[in-house]
Amino acid sequence: MNIINPATEEIITTIQEDSLVILDLKFKRLQKSASTWSAVPIQKRVEILEKFVSLLKENIEELAAILTSEMGKPLQQSRNEINGASAKATWLVEHATQYLSEEIMSVSDQLTEKIVYEPLGVICNISAWNYPYNVGVNIFVPALLAGNAVMYKPSEYATLTGIQIGKYLVEAGVPEEVFQVAIGEGSVGKALLDMPFDGYYFTGSYQTGQKIYQHVAQKMVPCVLELGGKDPVYVADDVVDVAGAAAGIADGAFYNNGQSCCSVERIYVQSAIYDAFVEAFVAEVNSWKMGSPTEDGVYITVLSRRAQLDVLENQVTDAVDKGAMVLLGGKRLEGKGNYFEPTVLVNVTNEMAVMREESFGPIIGIMRVENDAEAVQLMNDTDYGLTAGVYSANQHRAEAILAQINAGSGYWNCCDRVSAALPWSGRGHSGFGSTLSQVGLRAFTKLKAYHLRK
Ligand code: NAD
Repeated sequence: MNIINPATEEIITTIQEDSLVILDLKFKRLQKSASTWSAVPIQKRVEILEKFVSLLKENIEELAAILTSEMGKPLQQSRNEINGASAKATWLVEHATQYLSEEIMSVSDQLTEKIVYEPLGVICNISAWNYPYNVGVNIFVPALLAGNAVMYKPSEYATLTGIQIGKYLVEAGVPEEVFQVAIGEGSVGKALLDMPFDGYYFTGSYQTGQKIYQHVAQKMVPCVLELGGKDPVYVADDVVDVAGAAAGIADGAFYNNGQSCCSVERIYVQSAIYDAFVEAFVAEVNSWKMGSPTEDGVYITVLSRRAQLDVLENQVTDAVDKGAMVLLGGKRLEGKGNYFEPTVLVNVTNEMAVMREESFGPIIGIMRVENDAEAVQLMNDTDYGLTAGVYSANQHRAEAILAQINAGSGYWNCCDRVSAALPWSGRGHSGFGSTLSQVGLRAFTKLKAYHLRK
């Protein structure tokens, strides 16, 4: 398997994909070690994962350089990701004992009732490339804290990073047999589905998630799917700082070159402030530097996957054919590297692919709406349901709108944000199940109810 730098199109290295024999060997190692790991006291597991976080921080420059080389995000954003993932992992580590220890629910003279959170056993995590640290720690950190052995399959576009994660977990004290990295493309992920794991945790596209769920359903084991989104933001006419809102939303749409599951992918703006918003939005996007991921001060760099350039170009063509206007960008850059100009479209409608299908790139449609009811209707007009945002001076108004939106997260005056203390979950084509928060710590356990009569 060639690991290719998406900015230079050069081969960084060539790696051997795992064969079925190797995958089976790795699985057997995990199976053998799972009970030993679950018998390690939780305090010790906490210490080990704490050490892992320290190692991420100590080695941030090396890790950020590797991440940028294989997936192409600006180097500073790679550092930001590792810092963000470390902060999330720290929250999980600090709350593991509280939420994973047994809970006494009632005690009387005769009877004690308690819940015990038992590990599932050996779990499989098939992961995405866009935030390998951020989406990875949501799964393998709580899974290990809860006492599971983990098969971690990084995306083929983040293989070197996956190997580093394995290396530093072992250096921190996770026994090698307890965390195995499965190397390879989709075919390796597919092979893992045929193995008898005790739970499947997938981060990736709706299309792959659907296939995985169909396959795993027969096994009757837990399956958590963190999939894509087409996340809307509504800007209401009572916003005071229109330019500030536009800058914040532009960042939410274009950060990581728009390759975030919770990127802003659709913007609805109330009529009275529409022109001012669009002007400020375009000015903000125009102020960014585009260039090689390792250049200082760059904000827009390359897409990780070359094929996505066609998706974006097709979305622009479809939108223009249906009456949209391109205010900025609209095409790929010729030459080496998967560069696509940051693209802003207006006169869009929800009938256009750019407002319906996940773009996963530096492109956005902005649409004028008349009132809150129309905004709610348009925001809900989607198969996805990951996040939704409302910008307004009035919290009550924003919350009343968010209450009507079918999405796992609601944002008031912010967007494109994840908190370790809150559950991260999608609806519809964005998936189901939850990571992060106490719910996410317990997502890797099976509950046992004890009824203990004296
Ligand atoms: P993808 O679905 O192409 O691949 C994800 C993983 O699945 C990879 O490791 C891949 O090798 C593997 N895979 C591919 N085909 C498979 C099969 N048939 N069986 C088993 N495994 C298979 O997704 P991607 O391009 O890596 O990631 C981008 C997608 O992930 C976007 O849709 C994005 O929105 C989503 N995402 C969601 C979240 C979230 O938290 N909801 C976070 C990050 C990314």
